[in-house]
Amino acid sequence: MSLSEITSRIHAAETAAGRTIGSTQLIAVSKVQPNERVATVLAEGHRLFGENKVQEAEGKWPMFRETYADAQVHLIGPLQTNKVKNAVALFDAIHAVDRPKLAQKLAAEIQAQGRSPDMFIQVNTGEEEQKAGVIPADADQFIADCLALDLPIKGLMVIPPVDEEPSLHFALLRKIALRNGLTGLSMGMSSDFERAVALGATHVRVGSAIFGERDYS
Ligand SMILES: *Cc1c(COP(=O)(O)O)cnc(C)c1O
Repeated sequence: MSLSEITSRIHAAETAAGRTIGSTQLIAVSKVQPNERVATVLAEGHRLFGENKVQEAEGKWPMFRETYADAQVHLIGPLQTNKVKNAVALFDAIHAVDRPKLAQKLAAEIQAQGRSPDMFIQVNTGEEEQKAGVIPADADQFIADCLALDLPIKGLMVIPPVDEEPSLHFALLRKIALRNGLTGLSMGMSSDFERAVALGATHVRVGSAIFGERDYS
């Protein structure tokens, strides 16, 4: 799908849901994609991208920003505490804040660098063993703890279980955000971004639908 096709589908979903057109931000997930494909999307005028690894992002975004100084990059994957310094230095937003030790490290690094990326707390709504994120029962407390640390928490993020209807998870995420006074909702990927927009996503993270399949070989 072309970038403009994705954008029109997002706008159609916003209209159908009675939302303002343009109220959903499209994060083009460029992880693993060849630089030529990323360069094409930048040349088309898109400026918001997502990466899931700190090191991989460091290998391309300082370079792209030499040409496109206004390019924004969000970290959408899990963050290890030993990468916090680099992450705070590079990213415009961090979507997977999910444990006290990470929250404390982020708060300390924001102080040290005077640079403050937007943050989203990942919620493991499916309560999957292998998945990052705070479980729903612990979410309210963890959100409060992060706000007490003065972290710039903008909202919540979810990756639903692959084999379940994502809308149930999007709705749960929205409910947790609402009761905690958070407005940002990072949810929806290539296969379900329209359903996420219908349920109020402020950020959809779309990779393969824009760039084509990722080649991990
Ligand atoms: C890779 C990734 C995406 C994009 O997935 P697609 O199915 O290619 O759209 C979205 N969110 C996260 C957290 C990812 O790691």
